[in-house]
Amino acid sequence: MRSVCVVGASLAGLLTARALRAQGYDGRLVLVGEELHRPYDRPPLSKDFLKGVLDESDLALEADGEELAAEWRLGVAATGLDAAARRVTLSDGTHVEADGIVIATGASARRLPRTESLAGVHTLRTLDDARALRHDLASAKRVVVIGGGFIGTEVAATACALGLEVTLVEAGKIPLAGVVGVQMAEAIAALHEQRGVRLLRGARVTALTGVTRVDGVRLADGTLLPADVVVVGIGAVPNIAWLENSGLRLGDGVICDAGGGTLVPGIVAVGDCAAWFDPALGRHERCEHWTGARLRAAVAAETLLSGGAARPARPRPAYIWSDQFDVKIQFVGHARHADTVVVEEGDPADHSFLAVYRQGERPVAVLGVNQVRLFSRWRRQLETAV
Ligand code: FAD
Repeated sequence: MRSVCVVGASLAGLLTARALRAQGYDGRLVLVGEELHRPYDRPPLSKDFLKGVLDESDLALEADGEELAAEWRLGVAATGLDAAARRVTLSDGTHVEADGIVIATGASARRLPRTESLAGVHTLRTLDDARALRHDLASAKRVVVIGGGFIGTEVAATACALGLEVTLVEAGKIPLAGVVGVQMAEAIAALHEQRGVRLLRGARVTALTGVTRVDGVRLADGTLLPADVVVVGIGAVPNIAWLENSGLRLGDGVICDAGGGTLVPGIVAVGDCAAWFDPALGRHERCEHWTGARLRAAVAAETLLSGGAARPARPRPAYIWSDQFDVKIQFVGHARHADTVVVEEGDPADHSFLAVYRQGERPVAVLGVNQVRLFSRWRRQLETAV
């Protein structure tokens, strides 16, 4: 293999490029990225960057003086792929042909329809999104956050810590229940409520109000929530539209085997855009978390360089972390596989506890809230048990 094109110049793309070099690949390396920025870290965008504690220079993913000997094509998007010819078409009308292709185009924030032209309505995925939101929050008093996933709860916590009046609107029973289960989600909801977030459960948004700028959120029961800023955190969709007609198999992401290989030899996919086969679950699953991209980059590089014969990724239970207020939330495993959950250390009322989820006698997931050391031990235990 003498040339590799990495499409998507962020966490998964950079780490795979780095892994290719570390595994001895010394040919041509092209990194194509739609954003103009060099690779940066997204998790702080909803936390310390939004709070103003971190600046852009703190987000860089490249190490000081790191030299990948790569050609960077930033500010251009891939618009098409001819998989058989391994030819990527770019938005500036040029093409890149390569022996190997890494698809690492991540995901985009899902938007509420018909809200694009309304000022004050934000989604949060990119540095530019975070800059715009940070700017708007500086002059806002009332913020409505729609969606109680990780992005929604983190933004609610940050805005609240900035002294704003925050309402968090969740369509389901309770925020984060899909990840940590209803019982433990109550403990996280209590944290938000105690710190001043107004939490509306089972609330469905029917419209945003305002003419040129948003001024409120209308709910299905007729309630109107006044708002200077609205943040929409209703999930992310994989960036795979550019791969239609490419010949690759697409579903909820690029469908890959357990090593990141696609249907076409010489093309791998990694990060938030990729649905790898998970032998432990027996199905393809897209992993939308930082650690997933980090762990899989080296495997994807190996798959590419070996022509598809790499050892598959060692199955590991999914690991997620989130920082909300002064609390570190860590979760590993799958709550939905559990029939019991027991707090084994600390007390949810103190926002410091560790809960173990079990199926019969077998631990299948662990939640740590401000329990970093104990959680690490449990995480290792769960990982070695897989
Ligand atoms: P991305 O980071 O989305 O990067 C994909 C890149 O590809 C982007 O730069 C995009 O512009 C580019 N691209 C897209 N389409 C094209 C195209 N056609 N051509 C060229 N380039 C293209 N995870 C955690 O585990 N813990 C956290 O606390 C956490 N917090 C987060 C907070 C925020 C605000 C966000 C947005 C994410 C957070 N995540 C967190 C998730 C984590 O950041 C992602 O899992 C990670 O960024 C995935 O990396 P990626 O490279 O696959 O995708």
